[in-house]
Amino acid sequence: MTHPLRVAVIGAGVAGLAAARSLRREGLDVVVFEKSNHLGGTWSYDPRTDSDPVGLDPNREVVHTSLYRSLRTNLPRQLMGFLDYPFPNRNNGDPRTFPGHEEVLWFLNRFSDEFGLRGLTRFGSEVVRVELVSEKSDSWVVESRRNRDSVLTREVFGAVVVCTGHFTQPRLPTIPGIEKWPGYQIHSHNYRVPEPFQGQIVVVIGFASSAFDISREIAKVAKEVHIATRSPDVKVMKLANHDNMWQHKMVKCVSEDRLVAFDDGSSVYADVLFYCTGYKYHFPFLETNGIVTIEDNRVGPLYKHVFPPALAPWLSFIGIPEKEVIFQMTELQCKWVARVLSGKVLLPTEKEMMAYVEEYYQQMEKDGFPKHMTHYLHFKEIGYCNWLAAKAGLPPIEHWRDEMYLESIKPVLLGLQDNYRDQWDDAHWKAIIKDASLPQNV
Ligand code: FAD
Repeated sequence: MTHPLRVAVIGAGVAGLAAARSLRREGLDVVVFEKSNHLGGTWSYDPRTDSDPVGLDPNREVVHTSLYRSLRTNLPRQLMGFLDYPFPNRNNGDPRTFPGHEEVLWFLNRFSDEFGLRGLTRFGSEVVRVELVSEKSDSWVVESRRNRDSVLTREVFGAVVVCTGHFTQPRLPTIPGIEKWPGYQIHSHNYRVPEPFQGQIVVVIGFASSAFDISREIAKVAKEVHIATRSPDVKVMKLANHDNMWQHKMVKCVSEDRLVAFDDGSSVYADVLFYCTGYKYHFPFLETNGIVTIEDNRVGPLYKHVFPPALAPWLSFIGIPEKEVIFQMTELQCKWVARVLSGKVLLPTEKEMMAYVEEYYQQMEKDGFPKHMTHYLHFKEIGYCNWLAAKAGLPPIEHWRDEMYLESIKPVLLGLQDNYRDQWDDAHWKAIIKDASLPQNV
């Protein structure tokens, strides 16, 4: 009798939990390593923050999650569940279409209990090293440290699935003069509540979801909030419906007297520079002899953002793409990986996968996307998910999901409608979803 493949899953967030379920369903022997004492990853709110608010100190104490206390999902709940395990309305829970973060954690706990995933998880076990047993081997040594007593354990696994998330390591812009700027600097990773910004003049850099939400929340207590963005269409102006919010082009430079100058020629004396500038991929435990590298936020080479061709299928990454319907994409990646590891689906040869990666890079360059956007799907999410679905033996994604995703990101992309979450047209979407679930030939 042959033993099932032993697979180490690193992380018990959305990706790790979905991976554990899929791998186990394929009959594989799964161990999930989770460095904290709970599951849910990002969705487990923690009022503590890093000891360095911008994350430059390599020896700082790091808190994994970047959730702020008031956070509500930026996607409607219909897109916050798995395709085969939807996000329900919790009895006596948050009735809103865009629920608070507590509801997402509740959902992930329910999912774990339903599929017995807690029993597969070693809580309080941080993976500190992953490396091939030897150059010629396909197996991996996984070294983990138990938080409780710092005991190190080394074990051999046939495959490793990395599910450690990528919203913890702040990414900062380069700003001329910043080393002498005397104000307070913070990255959104370390934002929890608005009160510390009472009466302050705050410059928020960034234009994605976090910048949108945080700038508006801070504006309720701050003296002034100035949003700086690289977005090409932005002109300096006061925001409609706000007495104390302005938008500007990107920060050009800062100086010793607290001045922050913008590319549009405007400037302000500010107390706080608030970076909503995204995150860096970071896998400090991974030793691949240079086969997998991170350059300018490109993790590569990765075939379809999942498998490094030279180490496939025995090493894989779940959840790398950005700007996505994360639950659905993660679930499909996991199902594909599980089918590959169980031998049901074959990967192309290493050479073919490398050729695909090269072609992808060239196409990105031709389309004018910089390297650090390698894992943005550039509005090709639906094609990517349908490709994964086919590999996982599933039908294509229902069309309404794509439409709903595009509709929900519009307010943030266009900087419109502060309270877009509460203006959502539930009746319209209910009708669309109902229609889509009817047999099409009726
Ligand atoms: P994570 O949730 O980060 O989980 C990774 C896990 O790995 C953690 O539990 C961590 O402790 C563990 N880990 C890390 N390193 C190790 C190690 N060495 N050893 C052992 N364990 C380790 N997505 C949405 O779909 N909708 C939203 O509205 C939304 N809002 C967001 C708001 C914010 C502020 C942020 C930061 C993200 C948001 N996201 C949202 C994206 C969100 O991160 C994903 O939904 C999802 O949590 C990603 O799951 P993950 O499992 O890939 O990573």
